[in-house]
Amino acid sequence: MTLFLQTYNNYIWLAPYGYSVVFAGFSFYLFRLFEGFYATIFDKPLFRNYFIYKKLSEHQLAILTKEFSFYNSLSEKHKRQFQHRVASFISDKEFIGRENLQVTERMKVLTSAIGCMLSFGRKNYKFNLIEFILIYPKEFYSKVNNAYHKGEFNPKGRALVISWKDFEEGYQITNDNLNLGIHEFMHAMQLEAKRGGDGDSDRFEKQFQNILKQLTKPEIKDKLIATQYFRDYAFTNQYEFMSVMTEYFFESPQEFKKQFPELYGYTKKLLNFNFGDY
Ligand SMILES: [Zn+2]
Repeated sequence: MTLFLQTYNNYIWLAPYGYSVVFAGFSFYLFRLFEGFYATIFDKPLFRNYFIYKKLSEHQLAILTKEFSFYNSLSEKHKRQFQHRVASFISDKEFIGRENLQVTERMKVLTSAIGCMLSFGRKNYKFNLIEFILIYPKEFYSKVNNAYHKGEFNPKGRALVISWKDFEEGYQITNDNLNLGIHEFMHAMQLEAKRGGDGDSDRFEKQFQNILKQLTKPEIKDKLIATQYFRDYAFTNQYEFMSVMTEYFFESPQEFKKQFPELYGYTKKLLNFNFGDY
């Protein structure tokens, strides 16, 4: 009996800690519940980042600052978030050079930066369907349709494949509405949304439906034909339309907004993109 009491006394002091653990667990559950409600009601994540801790190396940061104007347009807080995300993205993916291409730090930083720019409004920013980034020096032969490609997203191989020459032209020439990186990353984002499972995917699907509805309206259809604003390739199918439209969104937001304010608005919502001049 004495022994039992002793044991009991030895552990009773733990009780408040036990309650705290249960309370913390329950609070976390309530928080996640609230976060889910918030995302559904307001169509955007409550928090985009919980933790911001990763930093790029000095060399990597210099590349971003010198060559990526979107980064320079951000506030200090958003710069820290962006840096964290690019650093996480780089350590998360495997970069592989093809046809003797040597993958440089610059290639890693710039491809990751394009992906992280496209997903910057999202909480889930890492493109879960992409594990490998394959970089060819220029156009490459693709067995998908036995033709030369400048880029592709290969879901089976979990790979984003790009021609470096075309990727560079895509982001360096900023007034032609061509941006290979944005285009291919958008394909990956759209497939991820189709598989669903998180707030960002739900929002994507909802706004995607809004965009498709717009496209069935006679006055929008007529205007698309009359203005020939989007290049022909956009009308290949709904996936190409989304990728091409997103290139326009990033390369000429003002013109896009003026021409098709509804489509612009839904795209902005879909990406939850409230940065810089967008
Ligand atoms: Zn495409």
